[in-house]
Amino acid sequence: MKTFTKSFTQQEPIPESAIEAAVKVMRSGRLHRYNSAAGERSETDLLEIEFADYMDVPYALACSSGGYALHVALCAAGVQAGDKVLCNAFTLAPVPGAIHNSGAVVVLVDVDENYCIDLDDLHAKALQSGAEYLMLSHMRGHIADMDRVMAICEEFGIVLIEDCAHTMGAFWDGKRSGTFGLVACFSTQTYKHLNSGEGGFLISSDAQLMARAIMYSGSYMLYTNHCAAPDPQVFADISLQTPNYSGRMDNLRAAILRPQLAQLDSQCKRWNDRYALMEVILHQCEAIRLTQRPVKEQYVASTLQFSLPQFSTQSIVEVVEQCAARGVVLKWFGAAMPDGYTSRYDSWCYIQDMPSLPVTEQRLSKLLDMRIPLTFTEKDCQLIAQIICEVVGELTISD
Ligand SMILES: *Cc1c(COP(=O)(O)O)cnc(C)c1O
Repeated sequence: MKTFTKSFTQQEPIPESAIEAAVKVMRSGRLHRYNSAAGERSETDLLEIEFADYMDVPYALACSSGGYALHVALCAAGVQAGDKVLCNAFTLAPVPGAIHNSGAVVVLVDVDENYCIDLDDLHAKALQSGAEYLMLSHMRGHIADMDRVMAICEEFGIVLIEDCAHTMGAFWDGKRSGTFGLVACFSTQTYKHLNSGEGGFLISSDAQLMARAIMYSGSYMLYTNHCAAPDPQVFADISLQTPNYSGRMDNLRAAILRPQLAQLDSQCKRWNDRYALMEVILHQCEAIRLTQRPVKEQYVASTLQFSLPQFSTQSIVEVVEQCAARGVVLKWFGAAMPDGYTSRYDSWCYIQDMPSLPVTEQRLSKLLDMRIPLTFTEKDCQLIAQIICEVVGELTISD
């Protein structure tokens, strides 16, 4: 029986050029982003310029984490305590956490059969709740029909905030994910598309919003150091009105991110090549349902999701166990109790008036998920897909 032995949490090493850049920063002693020598642009400033350029937006802010960026995005967009914010029920815990951190009320929206936000439910919840904000998670890199998302936002006057933790490098209909809303956030935490341990970005084309975000991030009165930022006069009315929520990025992390950003597009291609190979094999297994990906969606498949629509909960648990016994680590989003990074919406018990979302529970109960770290070769990915097919196939027969 074939087994797989590599770790699903092992990322690639940091590129040598990035290690050298980090060592240079450490030798300089100037790790704080505003601690620059005369005439020097700090690594953090340069990273922001390069990320804004990559995203083709005027403004970018690097900060301490993706979840922090989401919190600051909400505050900078004007969210006040008690405001309602629509949010995917299928997402990672830092997303509702950021909404809670801003004092706002989370309004959960169902997941659809392709793991995107359910647009009919979004429309219904927008109407019912009167929420003025949508924090849209492109969860696991699945991009909802952005044409319809934007139409719904327009219909209800909803401000869109994008959580692009899984869509850095992705597009919808030729437009970069993260350029649809008023503001978008990214993560550079180890398991995302760039790895600085912890870290995040916030981007926007709105000068006022960005000035507020920079002040919130803890710029003190040093905001003129920022290069991917609005003109200093934009800060005039904002700087004294905006509290300092201290959450800056430092030059060490910026130094290791810059060479990675330069390689991002080729890394995205490597993920998609692996995904495509797995898809071909998994498609041969009748019990497995893969998402139909719309032609307008140019995704980055750094993870893979599939469902087993005909399987009982018991059989799905067996799939997870038997795959694990053969070295293939699958995450199940249907479990009632949170496990590791994986938690279902109803475990976020701090949410006011927690709704019951039977459609989401039904869909998540069939959903399995795995990471595709780039330390896996294409052959590794084929082996993993074969193991999944064998396990699922055997259980189909015995069911
Ligand atoms: C990782 C993640 C975040 C938060 O990023 P951190 O940098 O870990 O705070 C937000 N949303 C999603 C969907 C994520 O996966």
